[in-house]
Amino acid sequence: MRRLKSFDKNANVLYMVAVPIGNLKEMTPRALEILKESDYIFCEDTRNTASLLNKFDLRKELISLREHNESSVSNKVIDLLKDGKKISYVSDAGYPGISDPGKILVKKVRESGFAVSTISGSNALLNALVSSSLDATHFYFHGFLSSIDKKAKEELETLKNKNETIIFYEAPHRIERTTHLLYEVMGDRKATIARELTKLNEEYIEGSLSELVTLDFSTLIGEMVIVLEGNNKEESVDDNSILSRADDLLKRNISLKDVSDIISFELKVGKNYVYNLLLNNKK
Ligand code: SAM
Repeated sequence: MRRLKSFDKNANVLYMVAVPIGNLKEMTPRALEILKESDYIFCEDTRNTASLLNKFDLRKELISLREHNESSVSNKVIDLLKDGKKISYVSDAGYPGISDPGKILVKKVRESGFAVSTISGSNALLNALVSSSLDATHFYFHGFLSSIDKKAKEELETLKNKNETIIFYEAPHRIERTTHLLYEVMGDRKATIARELTKLNEEYIEGSLSELVTLDFSTLIGEMVIVLEGNNKEESVDDNSILSRADDLLKRNISLKDVSDIISFELKVGKNYVYNLLLNNKK
């Protein structure tokens, strides 16, 4: 066990700095301050981060730390922290480590005994979830599905029975494929496609998957998030269980309507379904 305080005067801290997902006004004063005070800024793509920092008149030497060199460059970060340097890490958009590089860095830095502190900012999945009309009490973030259809289907099979709202990231050139795959594997459920968040063309498209597959996908440009309703279907109850329970209840002189209400409550089946089944069975 190790306890590390981010605001200790003598703490050598790695700052994971979230940056805007499109709208520059979401660059926070705190993020700017931390970046300004950093001795070194490591980032996913030096050109992207240089262009972001330029917009805020911040000029710093940037060092690339991306998927293919994350492990080795993390060692350099650790050496600099040992020298008492202040270090920040920035990915291309939103939070580092969320479908972006950063998690190997954090793990290694923590294992070396240094503190890691995250500087809050924008994030695509939370914006999409909060503005969608789907449940946000419990949710599961899946990120990107495999680009290979067979593997994507296998992933979806493992998610099929989840009750929580499920969130996917997707690229514009795969949104049509993924919407169809979701419909095919997950069945008809409510979903929201959230596009171009925080930007001028921000758009939320809500509907059932059977409706969403009919979209003109050429109009879906830019970055997007898919928020999908969890599996809320009740376990299917077979008619014989309903009829057998009804038999017991009807013997006690309970009316057909009340029997339907009781069974509907007990077995979580629609009242009308039970009522009509019992009515037809009586004939
Ligand atoms: N680290 C980022 C975050 O915290 O949200 C996510 C980076 S991931 C490489 C990029 C994906 O995030 C995009 O393909 C898209 O699914 C989603 N995304 C990022 N910015 C977005 C935006 N402005 N609108 C909609 N989706 C966005």
